[in-house]
Amino acid sequence: MPNTLDRQTRIYISGHRGLVGSTLVERLRAAGFENLLTATRAEVDLRDQGAVDAWFADARPQMVVHVAGTVGGIQANATRPADFMYDNLMIHATVLRAAWRQGVEKLLYLGSSCIYPRDCPQPMREEYLLTGPLETTNEAYALAKITGLKSCEYYRGQYGCHFISAMPTNLYGPRDNFDLAGSHVLPALIRKFHEARLAGQTEVSVWGTGAPKREFMHVDDLAAACLFLLENYDRCETINVGTGQDVTIGELADLVRKIVHPEAQLVFDTSKPDGTPRKLLDVSRIHALGWKHTIELHEGIESTYRWFLEHVDQVRV
Ligand code: GDP
Repeated sequence: MPNTLDRQTRIYISGHRGLVGSTLVERLRAAGFENLLTATRAEVDLRDQGAVDAWFADARPQMVVHVAGTVGGIQANATRPADFMYDNLMIHATVLRAAWRQGVEKLLYLGSSCIYPRDCPQPMREEYLLTGPLETTNEAYALAKITGLKSCEYYRGQYGCHFISAMPTNLYGPRDNFDLAGSHVLPALIRKFHEARLAGQTEVSVWGTGAPKREFMHVDDLAAACLFLLENYDRCETINVGTGQDVTIGELADLVRKIVHPEAQLVFDTSKPDGTPRKLLDVSRIHALGWKHTIELHEGIESTYRWFLEHVDQVRV
């Protein structure tokens, strides 16, 4: 099947400073793409339609990978729902509108596995979207993301735009957010075990009961999947991107413990929320197209920790 995109294609990656966007820029550059377009928040506020339209008219992207958004872990989502809703609703609406107006040839929109219903049958198939109530700790984010994802379908239906969407699972890797109040679990645990080791402490607090199950994928695998989908996928249905394997938070914490601070013990802080009990994607659709992840969790945590050690002075903490 492999189709090859012209390496001169002007591709806009929104959100290029975040975990996914920065990895995507690196990956596309390595694949030979020379005309990658990015814009910082100071250059264009993606919540402002006028600014976004002006930027698109000037930069003339032919393709867009829309990654930008206000994101965060369970605590940030649960405590700032108004901001998560507003920022994400606006950012998705403006970018899709500008892409349509500008006649962008293809747009890839990234959803998130947290937008499936809270009590979704596992593993979660693409058609389970909008079949039940959402998890309350990230409802605002999920509603905004669903709106963006459905908008891709509407632009496709009404205007014939080649807008596609993919649904990545929980991601991790270099350049993640390591700020304990805002981060997701994996970078938080790397940082907590690292700091406990430095401080000579043997107890590390893990939020919740440790029982919830999560699927984790290295961001390099997601970047590879994005390029694969840009080259090989052009259908209305969203497509899950994950490993198809999950672990409990307790198992994850134990893996991080062994890699970062083997002498430590886990202490579960049940005053913190567990969130969704399980979020495992059914990845048979993307496997059937011929794509599979390559980085297993253990090696991914080891390489992310190596990156953390090399950049500990610069990481977002
Ligand atoms: P979620 O997947 O949207 O629930 O987001 P998170 O990655 O923030 O949390 C996943 C699970 O890990 C939840 O059950 C958290 O309570 C749990 N967890 C355990 N320790 C931590 C921690 O230090 N930080 C975060 N963010 N979550 C933690």
